[in-house]
Amino acid sequence: MKRDYYEVLGVQRDSSPEEIKKAYRKIALQYHPDRNQGDKEAEERFKEAAEAYEVLSNPEKRRRYDTLGHEGLGAGFQASDSDDIFNAFNDLFENFFHFNGARPNRPRGFVPERGSDLRYDLSLKFEQAAKGLVAEIELTRLEMCDACGGTGMEDGAQPIACPLCGGSGQVIQSQGFFRVATTCPRCSGRGMIISNPCKRCHGEARVKERRKVRVQVPPGAETGFKLRLRGEGDVGLRGGPRGDLYIFLHVEPHKFFERHGNDIVFKQPVSIVQAALGAEVEVPTLDGPQRLRIPAGAQPGDVLRLKGHGVQDPRGYGKGDQIVILSIFVPKKLTDRQKELLEEFDAIEQQKDGDGFLKKIFRFLDGKESGNPHHEDRH
Ligand SMILES: [Zn+2]
Ligand SMILES: [Zn+2]
Repeated sequence: MKRDYYEVLGVQRDSSPEEIKKAYRKIALQYHPDRNQGDKEAEERFKEAAEAYEVLSNPEKRRRYDTLGHEGLGAGFQASDSDDIFNAFNDLFENFFHFNGARPNRPRGFVPERGSDLRYDLSLKFEQAAKGLVAEIELTRLEMCDACGGTGMEDGAQPIACPLCGGSGQVIQSQGFFRVATTCPRCSGRGMIISNPCKRCHGEARVKERRKVRVQVPPGAETGFKLRLRGEGDVGLRGGPRGDLYIFLHVEPHKFFERHGNDIVFKQPVSIVQAALGAEVEVPTLDGPQRLRIPAGAQPGDVLRLKGHGVQDPRGYGKGDQIVILSIFVPKKLTDRQKELLEEFDAIEQQKDGDGFLKKIFRFLDGKESGNPHHEDRH
């Protein structure tokens, strides 16, 4: 059941358009979604008020509503699309309230302004990112001008209306049929300039300076991490707060280590003999070399784990592991004696099986035998 539009806006049936507009403005401001994020009821009230206003602000619709009620507007009448509601809303509040960063139409004047946020890209070595570090970086940022104490003025200077835009803060440019208002380049939209600007900062009140900043990179940082250093951006204007500094981290790839979450993957080469007989080998880790037992009969691609030798979790949830993947290397150059031993080894292998591994493959390819020769050979 639809509520009465006059009741929705809290006005009398004989209220003037001005009173209706005033009532709507009050309700719309109170229930505007920007001020009531996620509040369904507020959103409903906002839409309801917009619909009521759309009818009662239009003399023809209002007359039909007064005589026939909701029926007079046709079945299923609803306020226009929500886009239209917001447009109507914004029209109503032009020069009064600016939502969603809409640019004010009037000059900003000499008010305090927050300094800009800055970005710095910091490259880290793989180990540095894994273990964390304190870095000292150097950057250029705006600092208060000492010569004028941040006023931008020489002694006795006064703010005057900007001669380029006449104090409006905007200049009009013609583009074909259109006339477009853009921020005045002379006064940056403030509408005012300094009559006798400081010679050091040229009236800007700030100057560029090189500064050193200490950055604490937590252990476990990865490419794409952003650190925010509050108040380390540009200095504000006329007492406005400083901006922030954002450090964007880039981690260089490692020659041998690869990161997977908090685990480090490493390919450990072992010889045929070490794989066959089993061995204890030294594996490089971020914490220095660690001993690792290779079981006898290890195969290429077998995965072993060094617990707790991975990367510290950046949120403090313990450490990852180092995952060791075995790769078996085959010697390229053999001495005569080594050759002799391997040939002897092969001869024994063939006797053991009664058949060589390769012969099995050839038979398999000829279609005389089915199955996986590799698999059979392993047992
Ligand atoms: Zn200055
Ligand atoms: Zn200007």
